[in-house]
Amino acid sequence: MSAVMITRKVRKWEKLPGKNTFCCDGRVMMARQKGVFYLTLFLIAGTCALFFAFECPYLAVHLCPAIPVFAALLFVFVMAMLLRTSFSDPGVLPRALPEEATFIEMEIEAANGNVPAGQRPPPRIRNVQINNQIVKLKYCYTCKIFRPPRASHCSICDNCVDRFDHHCPWVGNCVGKRNYRYFYLFTLSLSLLTIYIFTFDIVHVVMRSMNGGFLNTLKETPGTVLEVLVCFFTLWSVVGLTGFHTYLISLNQTTNEDIKGSWSGKNRGQNPYSHKNIIKNCCEVLCGPTYPSVLDRRGLLQEDSTLVSSSNPVPQTTKTTAPLIPNEHTPDDAKPSIASSAEKSASPKEEHPAAMKFPPLASPETDAETSIAKERAH
Ligand SMILES: [Zn+2]
Ligand SMILES: [Zn+2]
Repeated sequence: MSAVMITRKVRKWEKLPGKNTFCCDGRVMMARQKGVFYLTLFLIAGTCALFFAFECPYLAVHLCPAIPVFAALLFVFVMAMLLRTSFSDPGVLPRALPEEATFIEMEIEAANGNVPAGQRPPPRIRNVQINNQIVKLKYCYTCKIFRPPRASHCSICDNCVDRFDHHCPWVGNCVGKRNYRYFYLFTLSLSLLTIYIFTFDIVHVVMRSMNGGFLNTLKETPGTVLEVLVCFFTLWSVVGLTGFHTYLISLNQTTNEDIKGSWSGKNRGQNPYSHKNIIKNCCEVLCGPTYPSVLDRRGLLQEDSTLVSSSNPVPQTTKTTAPLIPNEHTPDDAKPSIASSAEKSASPKEEHPAAMKFPPLASPETDAETSIAKERAH
């Protein structure tokens, strides 16, 4: 009889509901569809590479050596803002615990009374007062919570996001309370970079054409035409988007609220979040406090312990961290293979996200991904 006990640390991100993907052990959080995000990276990096290869050497010598330096700094800033927006938690709200969900459902049913058959139950709404303005909190049937003001459920990520702005496939993430300012800085800096490259592309072609002719210039720098085309089409969309978000920031409004017309029209109230001052609104959105993630996605959930016996090849998943059952017949050289096969086949225990809110059972000091303990019987 032999047995090997495998314990594996489970972090909360592994059990999170919703359609997000995680990597770097939960440090990076994105939406599941990332194809357009890779296209964004390719277009920005590709255009800048062409600019550094074809225009910068000539412009640095004949015009100013600072041109490539400034372009490089701007490029680094754009990429930093893009990755910060894409890889961070936009402000996802945790779903209700099963007990909380049951309690809320009971509360709603008690408030609504018995709805006669065939009649639609009243909408699940709660009213709160914000700056003397009544704001409706809607119930999310997926997350089983009354969403906080300005939150909305993203159908792509399948999560409620606080101060939801929109889901942006270009950055591969939702844009919400925690990453909006980085998204805005990304669009702003990308607009500047696009204008910068476009302008110096034209300057480069004009300077070279004066010496060697227009067609010869295009033959010598084939990347220029491609750059001009990419920058031209990017300019319209990115500069337009930056202008739109500048307008929204000045009103302290989200894209979601603007599309829904939450604060416009005759029957709508005034935006209770606006300070009625453009400078104050800009300061709050761009320089206000940053909010911690409420997901705690790298927190330890528990230890998944798997008991593997040589007489029983099917691994049994248990929830104990007890020491190993003595193993007296398994050859020493066979134990690592048993352990590795058990690790592959051991599926993490399905657990409701409710458990995420309980304090972790495992000690954070033992941070190894897998620990294999074994004892030999006498
Ligand atoms: Zn939701
Ligand atoms: Zn989303």
